[in-house]
Parts: sequence; structure tokens; C-alpha cells
Amino acid sequence: MKINNIIQDTFGRKHDYLRISMTDKCNFRCFYCMPDEKLSFYPNSKLMSADELLNIAKTFVSLGVKKIRLTGGEPLLRKDAREIISRLSNLPIELAITSNGYLLDEYMELFKEIGLQSVNVSLDTLDADKFFNITKRDYLGKVLSNIKLFIDNGFRIKVNMVALKDVNIHEIPDFIEWTRNEEVHVRFIEFMPFNGNSWDFSKIVSYKEILKIVEGNFEYDRIEDAKNDTAKNFRIKGGKGTFAVISSVTDSFCGSCNRIRLTADGRIKNCLFSNNELDLLTAYRKGEDIEQLIFQNIESKFKERGGLPEFEDIKKEEDLGKGRCMFAIGG
Ligand code: SAM
Ligand code: SF4
Repeated sequence: MKINNIIQDTFGRKHDYLRISMTDKCNFRCFYCMPDEKLSFYPNSKLMSADELLNIAKTFVSLGVKKIRLTGGEPLLRKDAREIISRLSNLPIELAITSNGYLLDEYMELFKEIGLQSVNVSLDTLDADKFFNITKRDYLGKVLSNIKLFIDNGFRIKVNMVALKDVNIHEIPDFIEWTRNEEVHVRFIEFMPFNGNSWDFSKIVSYKEILKIVEGNFEYDRIEDAKNDTAKNFRIKGGKGTFAVISSVTDSFCGSCNRIRLTADGRIKNCLFSNNELDLLTAYRKGEDIEQLIFQNIESKFKERGGLPEFEDIKKEEDLGKGRCMFAIGG
């Protein structure tokens, strides 16, 4: 819906936050995100070029988008990532990025130059063997040293940990302990269902379960959440950093959603779980008016979960429809 040239849906939610996936390719193979290792990826001709991505992003900014987060796949893998990031930093927006952390050191000077300070790094374990089992890569040392490098250089680092019952639940206290003496912001994310990722409600470590673990191990305070924050934030007594829970499944935050997603092949997705995508890139290439398409897509946004049933009622893959895997959306 177009209200004062601002993107609003039929539930009155204003959309001013755009997440752009720069590529569907990745140098990791996290089993919960990219379950089929032999998947084929989009050829470059199907992806937005740097110019296309910039011009489409500019259209969103002209419609009130104030924050853009770059994601993927692994955004820093793209050969023209430097050019895209530099050019986006000239727009009147807050620019942020989500990365698996492996290539971050190569980009630190650029980020400093352009003032990109908010970096989310995904890290599900502090154990090297487990890291390999999760990602199929032997890169824990490099990711940890890059996180340290960025913290020491004054960046605001959030570490995203997807908490899974049989995988890393026992490491939750270690991640929280990390926040005691380091200015790191750990966020535990409830495991979400996507095509092929063998999701099951029973594999989730829920918000309530995480709090129980915290209560048994730490003294802590609930701290204020930022506007539209998807995380519930906490700090252990005397802690330098913070920890948070993103309860996307057991206590979702659809009511205050302000997010729009743009996939690397230029499709607008009005919800992480939506199967209703609109091909902005083809329209842009044909010279069509993409503003109208953006309004039209946001107008069709469901109230909750992209129209999926309650998560507890999702029993089989078909209940998810034919949505994408997470690496092709961007999280
Ligand atoms: N490659 C980058 C990274 O790993 O940070 C950016 C893309 S990744 C898809 C973005 C985020 O989605 C990561 O924090 C990842 O852990 C999270 N993610 C992927 N699949 C998920 C799932 N099924 N449930 C919850 N979070 C998931
Ligand atoms: Fe790659 Fe990120 Fe997905 Fe892991 S979570 S496979 S790093 S896109």
C-alpha cells in the first residue's frame, strides 16, 4: 500500500528495513541452511548486477527504507562486493552486513572507511570438531580470530547462534560466559523450518528453555530492546557484552515486522516464510515501474508467518509450500 509514498501493508506495518541477498553462493555448508550439498546455484546472469542492485536499492530508499542489511549466501564472496558495499554506503541509510566471518579481515579497512560498524557473524559452536560437523569446513580458528579483530577495532559484533537440541544446547552457557569480559553480543536463534532442512519442532531450543539454562547458571538482567528488534535482550551482571534470544518460532514478532527481503536474483519477498515472490529484476530489465510492484507485493503480505500454519502444526515438508532454502533467501 502506498501511504505518503511509504511502504505500508494492510495491517498498518511500515516497511523501512530491506535485507538484500548479494549471492546464493556460500563457502560454508551449514546443514540446517544448505541441506543439499549438491544444489545448483544461480548463474551470474540471473543475479542482480552491481548497477541493478544499486538502482533497485535506491528505489526502496526513495520509498522510505532507512536500513539495508547485506546477506546471502555469503555476501563477501561476491567478486564485486567491495564496489557494491562502497556504493550503497553513499545512500542515506544505515548499512549493515551478516556474514559467516571467514573473509571479514579482508574487508575491515573498507568497512572502517565507509563507516559500516554493525556486523553480524554466524557461529554455532566454539568446538572445532563440531564446527566442522555443522559447516563442513575447518574454519573455526579463522572465524574466531576475525571476530576478535573486529571487536578490538571497535565494531559492534553480534554473534548469531542457531540453537539445536542435539547439536549445541550444552554450549549455551559458554556463549553467555563469552559476553562477561568481551564486548560481544550473542544472539540465540530458534531453528526455523525451510525446505529440505529436516526441521522438527522438537529440535528447537526454545526461548523458555534458553532462559531456564541461563537462570541455572547466571545472574542477569533483562535490558531494553531497540525499536522493531526481533531479539529479547539480556546482560549478565557486570557483563561487558549482552546476550539475546530471537524467538522466531515460539514467540514470533510478526506484529512489528518492518522487513522486506530482496533475493540475489532480484525477487521481492515480503516475509521469510512467504511463497509469494515477485520478480522485480525482470520488470526492472524491461523498464517497468517497479515502485508499483513493490507496493503490490507488500499489500499481499500475510499477518503472520507468510501464511504458513502455526509452527507446532507443521508436520511434513509439504506444509511449507515450495519456499526457498535459507541460503537462497538470506535470513
Ligand atoms: N552466510 C551468512 C551467515 O551465515 O551469516 C549470511 C546468510 S545466513 C542464511 C543468515 C543467517 O541465517 C545465519 O545467522 C544463519 O545461522 C541463519 N539461518 C540459516 N538457516 C536457519 C534456520 N533454519 N533457522 C534459523 N536460522 C537460520
Ligand atoms: Fe552459508 Fe550462512 Fe547458510 Fe552457513 S548459514 S551455509 S554460512 S549462507
